[in-house]
Amino acid sequence: MLKVSRRTFLKIAAATGAGASVLGKNILFQSADPVLAASTSPEVVKYSHCVQCNHTPFCGMKLIFKDDKLYRIEKRSDYNNNLICAKGVAAIQELYDPERLLYPMKRTNPKGEPGQWERISWDEALTTIADKLNGIKEKHGAEKVAFITGDPKEPRSALMRLAYTFGSPNFGTESSTCFLALDLSNKLTFGKNHFMTGPCGPGGNPVPGKTKVAIFWGTNPAWSAPFSVAGLRNAKEKGDCKYIVVDPRVTPTVHTFADVHLQIRPGTDGALALCFAKALIENDAYDKEFVEKWTHGFEEYAEYCKQFTVEKVAEICDVPAERIQEACDILVKQGSPIVCKTAAAWPHHVNGVNSHRAMWLLMPLTGSLDVPGGLKVPDEPMDFDMWNGSPGFSRARDLLPKLDDKRVDRKYVPIWADMEDYYAGQGNLQLNFLPEYVRDGEIKACVALGVNAMMWPQTQEYQKAFQDMEFAVSADFYIRPQTHDYVDMILPAAMSFERACPVARFGRKLFLREPVVEPAGEARPDYRICCDIGTALGFGDEFWGGGEKSEENCLIETLKTSGCGVTLEDLRAASPEGVVIPLKGEPQDKKYETGGLRYDGKPGFETPTGKMEFTSEVLRKYGFDPLPIYKEPTQGPVSSPEVAKDFPLILNSGSRVPMYTHSKQRHTPWLRDLMPEPICRLSPKAARERGIETGDEVELSTQFGAIRAKAEVTNIVRDDCIDMFHGWEQANVNLVHARDFDPISGFPSYKEGLCQVKKV
Ligand code: SF4
Repeated sequence: MLKVSRRTFLKIAAATGAGASVLGKNILFQSADPVLAASTSPEVVKYSHCVQCNHTPFCGMKLIFKDDKLYRIEKRSDYNNNLICAKGVAAIQELYDPERLLYPMKRTNPKGEPGQWERISWDEALTTIADKLNGIKEKHGAEKVAFITGDPKEPRSALMRLAYTFGSPNFGTESSTCFLALDLSNKLTFGKNHFMTGPCGPGGNPVPGKTKVAIFWGTNPAWSAPFSVAGLRNAKEKGDCKYIVVDPRVTPTVHTFADVHLQIRPGTDGALALCFAKALIENDAYDKEFVEKWTHGFEEYAEYCKQFTVEKVAEICDVPAERIQEACDILVKQGSPIVCKTAAAWPHHVNGVNSHRAMWLLMPLTGSLDVPGGLKVPDEPMDFDMWNGSPGFSRARDLLPKLDDKRVDRKYVPIWADMEDYYAGQGNLQLNFLPEYVRDGEIKACVALGVNAMMWPQTQEYQKAFQDMEFAVSADFYIRPQTHDYVDMILPAAMSFERACPVARFGRKLFLREPVVEPAGEARPDYRICCDIGTALGFGDEFWGGGEKSEENCLIETLKTSGCGVTLEDLRAASPEGVVIPLKGEPQDKKYETGGLRYDGKPGFETPTGKMEFTSEVLRKYGFDPLPIYKEPTQGPVSSPEVAKDFPLILNSGSRVPMYTHSKQRHTPWLRDLMPEPICRLSPKAARERGIETGDEVELSTQFGAIRAKAEVTNIVRDDCIDMFHGWEQANVNLVHARDFDPISGFPSYKEGLCQVKKV
């Protein structure tokens, strides 16, 4: 057995961004506990799934126990994606972290001050929560209570069930600052969101021998979704597909995949997409038959695209015209199908939805929709969403529609609110306007699971919102001052190894993840917390009377309501292997021809015109331009030249790094050693002009404030850009971002601020 020292672990992980699957060898045999590692006690093997990425459970884990204690984590070599990264391996340190929150706590000092906490019993906590929430419901209405989840995603369906049973439609998630605007873009274009297009979704993955062009656009799966990289590399090695990578940064994804890299100015993606469309149309390289029969608004769109010449777009994007021409030539010559792989970077612009539409329309334009090697729509999609669980379990289908008129986001983002697909189990309050909801008395209390206020721009506005609520309770693994200094009560939540999960799934294979250790202290699984609160609120029948068994009852009900035909016993019997849910019919292509893309089973799309819309009739109805128009970033050097005089650099934040997911894992020593402090990345030219060297302390300032970080001089970023990772308590970059939102989705503009950097 190969053993590596901690120092070697760090070197490997730093070099690879993964660290646990290097040169095909399973080389990490670290233990957080050297005594156990040296002990001769027999090893016991159990299995679980990793949730460190903040997707749903993905990588399979082999857990090695000695004396009933987890002491080593390895990849599961027989598992679907046969990989585990540094974050997964280091999860052991979180599990046994002495700083974990172990008991329910109530505040003993005013909100807004550093929290002074007193341990209370679960009984007292639940009684207080029920009294407060029922009191608000009686006096103001149930809709005044918001139910919010952050990380993990697993409890979403249980919290929805709690919200809707209580009578509030105002359930929201961190996805309203993350990727959900992509879904909205899809719905405006295709009517339903058929595609899992995020970093972990199959939509956008090239197929060897079929896909002619893959555009990886604003995504760096090497860091954001390491579990997907092996499959992508495999596809590249086997196929004759050409890869265009569009990214303002020179990432490992660029090095690994790009035949052409377009290092565009942030926020100019829409113009580039329209330029690609122009090239395809003018060279007759588009699918006329599909366009004529199945689309709406093509003439108007084609006319609009004409202005996006290579030369003009080269200027807009600040990329050499020859490079853009090269990409256009690839698209025209290679033919179709093509796929575009997208990610959460897209919506983080004030014109994010339209930019994404402009890109997305390339696929129907090239006839790449629901064909092998193109953008495939899953066959017989399961009634079981990767993130939101089963709509039957969450009660999104039966209870939520009756509460719809009490949503508080409609006046801010009516399209977002009206385009919610309750049938698909969605119900996402746009949380970016939380300060306004609280200010206007529309939200007076909240139940939050794993929420960190640092995810929002101008974080202090959201902290004040929590502070001003009549009551706020938050469940978490840790006390997080950035959020918990502003709430009334905190509850200890069980970590993934301590709780069950019904949504570990690969394609049509379901896995059961059961707890493998007892929860630390008095921590409880999030499903159980929802059931306990629901029962305390007076809905014991809906929540199995709360208590220990309720978590298992949630799993049973989820499987039952999903209609997958598999029971908890089936999954247990098959564990650690999963159970494949077979297709009832044959796999189908072009399901728009046979009614597979509409709820009424008719051919076409679930849009107002029944066709795929180049011009969105929903946008037109709400007073927006129906075209996928290009707009300059509001805070950019072109739109705001006066601001740019003092703040000449573009602030690009929100991208992933290999060792952390958002604000998570900062407690984990192995990962913390990989990036011990906040890093502000700038190019050698920008650094030289400012007399900055790697390791210098710098101040990053915008019109809205300043933070400090360590400089890293790197060729990863453009000369006019700053790259700053988010989620640091001591240097929260969201404090210096504007509260500028896309008017269609309400998403914040994390990738288009203007800033300056100077040596301190
Ligand atoms: S890639 Fe994501 S899911 Fe897989 S081990 Fe790493 S953090 Fe966990």
